[in-house]
Amino acid sequence: MTRQLKILHIEDNVADAGLIARELKQSGIDFTIKVVETKNDYSNALKNYNPDIILSDHSLPQFDSIEALSIYNENNFQIPFILITGSVSEEFAIRCIKEGADDYILKNNLIRLPSAIKQALKSRQVEADKRKVHLELEATNKELNTFIYKAAHDLRGPLCSIMGLTNLATMEGEKENLKDYIHKISESTLKLDAILLSLIDVMTIKDTQPVLNEIDLKSLVDSVIKRLKYIEGYEALKFKIKIENKKGFFSDESILNSVLYNILENAIKYRNMSHPGPFVDVKISNTDTGIKIEIEDNGIGIDGDIKDRIFEMYFRGNEDSKGSGLGLYLVANGIKKLGGTVCVESKLNNGSVFTIVLPSNLILT
Ligand code: ADP
Repeated sequence: MTRQLKILHIEDNVADAGLIARELKQSGIDFTIKVVETKNDYSNALKNYNPDIILSDHSLPQFDSIEALSIYNENNFQIPFILITGSVSEEFAIRCIKEGADDYILKNNLIRLPSAIKQALKSRQVEADKRKVHLELEATNKELNTFIYKAAHDLRGPLCSIMGLTNLATMEGEKENLKDYIHKISESTLKLDAILLSLIDVMTIKDTQPVLNEIDLKSLVDSVIKRLKYIEGYEALKFKIKIENKKGFFSDESILNSVLYNILENAIKYRNMSHPGPFVDVKISNTDTGIKIEIEDNGIGIDGDIKDRIFEMYFRGNEDSKGSGLGLYLVANGIKKLGGTVCVESKLNNGSVFTIVLPSNLILT
């Protein structure tokens, strides 16, 4: 045990309380103890003393261990509760265990108390770990279900449109009109492809363990911008890049590539068409433990009402968005994988700044 154990002890007999404290001291347990003897003091101590374990005598003038257990259960405490009593019938001991007590110790066998405490703390820790894993699994499962449901729904849109257009095209007699159908079919196919690529990216980021390598940030940013050349509107934007990385930076290049691509793609997609000089600024600087990347645009900006939702799965905050709504979800997941943080500052019609802070895993101070 690395920190002092906080014990809440329900006991009205000063001599017994002393004996128990002595037994614990002798065993080498590092602890502080608060002794209470009334129901009121016990309830207050549960709230304010924040104990790690409860030791309870069975019968006190004002209340008893069964009542103490029921208050403990009502408040859903997950700390060990050990009954320490002068004598106890087997039925009573079983009842206490059923009510939630971890163990019971007879006062004439206090030597067993330290190991009972250690065992109860260990079991509770195992239970807490299991509960945490269970909750995480439940959340992942829920997220996966939403993901599949929405993916299927999203894929059906362009697919239905392709099916409808193909039907119309087969009935079309005019050769000239066919070109128009083929163009529309091609647009829907591209959309389908974009959705599938985002889905593959999301799954890849979720599944892979980061591979750490030293990253040449300048060439990474350059290569991402080069890939963006085919996005509509790219030509209109002026890119300014300033990289001040004086230390080596180690991270997973392919995840970072995907993160930067998605944020920069949005800066192009959500540029302000009526602005005479649309720009994107990429600034990278060192922090104590890694780097900070700031990506600023003077685009259409993000409404305060939706700012907190833009990193959600399938969230599209814009009626004109032709994207999958997965770009920033992918960014958030990628940054989490790299042990960093991402946030956004933005005002409607006033541009946006995405700030990413990343640790350089091999230069942690
Ligand atoms: P989408 O496929 O819709 O682009 P994203 O997950 O990439 O999905 O982004 C979610 C939403 O966040 C977008 O629909 C848009 O409303 C908003 N958004 C993201 N980046 C920007 C930006 N640079 N400027 C303005 N709005 C943005």
